Amino acid sequence: MPSGKTLILVFILIGAAVFAATDWNVIKQQNRDYVTFSNVAHFYQFPEYTRVSHTVSLRSQRRGMRAEAGKSELYINGVRFFTDFPILSGPNDELISAMDVAKIIEPVIRPNKIKNAHKIDNVILDPGHGGADNGASNRWGNEKSFTLDVANYARQQLIAAGYKVEMTRTSDKYVSLEDRASFANKFQNAVFISIHFNWSGNAEGVETYSLAPAGVVSNAVLDRETAFANTGWCPGNAEDEKNIALAAAVHASVLTKLSMFDRGVKHSRFSVLRNSKIPSVLVECGFLSSAGEGQRIATPLYRQQLGLAIAQAVKNYDAAVNFRAEGGTFASARTSLPPHSRSITEPLSAYVPPAPAQIEKPSISINAGE
Ligand SMILES: [Zn+2]
Repeated sequence: MPSGKTLILVFILIGAAVFAATDWNVIKQQNRDYVTFSNVAHFYQFPEYTRVSHTVSLRSQRRGMRAEAGKSELYINGVRFFTDFPILSGPNDELISAMDVAKIIEPVIRPNKIKNAHKIDNVILDPGHGGADNGASNRWGNEKSFTLDVANYARQQLIAAGYKVEMTRTSDKYVSLEDRASFANKFQNAVFISIHFNWSGNAEGVETYSLAPAGVVSNAVLDRETAFANTGWCPGNAEDEKNIALAAAVHASVLTKLSMFDRGVKHSRFSVLRNSKIPSVLVECGFLSSAGEGQRIATPLYRQQLGLAIAQAVKNYDAAVNFRAEGGTFASARTSLPPHSRSITEPLSAYVPPAPAQIEKPSISINAGE
């Protein structure tokens, strides 16, 4: 049996090993910067790291991450994200692009470290379509009226929570996509949430879009066929980190509240996302074309739950990006956060007290995409 002294020595050595992993070891693949998942595990302090037939799994007490080589998907705390570039298989480990670390993992795992995040005052809700533009329709109704209904429910909840809420439309009228974004841009300390429903055969589930980072191809087929197939920088890219954190919050909240199929957090260059200068997302809250989901969406109670989920997401995002360890205990932060099964605020309840500066700061190479 080891003596007490031996045990202390072992502990210190493990600690030193973690602190030594201060740097990102960047590997060039396909002309792009990549890092290994074991590097990610060290940097974000996941004590458990497994790799079985090209699937990597990282776990800590309250966080989890999973990815498979060859795919463009990453699961963070059970929520599906479409990565900017494919996960690759390296000689000894699977690899993820530095862009995906900077633009997805970092802001989703540590939303409280996003630069220039402010307490939210204004929430801009954007019910999709309106007027002559019905959007998708099924036998029970039109997308334009369902989106307005969801927005109204979300609005009530957000006002009750103390937010100022603005809507791009409050009645059945046509508003151009450009006008929706320029309306949103009038507000400060604000977020923008565009609400839509989907249409495609028997598909079901929720998908949430944030703006594709510059250099990244859109996940939306329509985008690729238009002038916005280019991957250049758009005004909305100034808010990349907040965009993805907000998308994660909205997506996780809808998944949690409505137990919908997870179609993933995706990236696109939709007009309202491209042109908004405040953190923005577009959520497709299910398929009107599906017999089951289409009928559920037509139920007022279901739309009310969607509205509640969106309002909860704003509160979760606001708490997550503004969470500061100093001046309060972790225990008090835990009690102030709402209960949830899958959400970006989840890591905060397991927030590790500030570690030495050298391991907190991502290297230049990881942030190069900013
Ligand atoms: Zn729509």
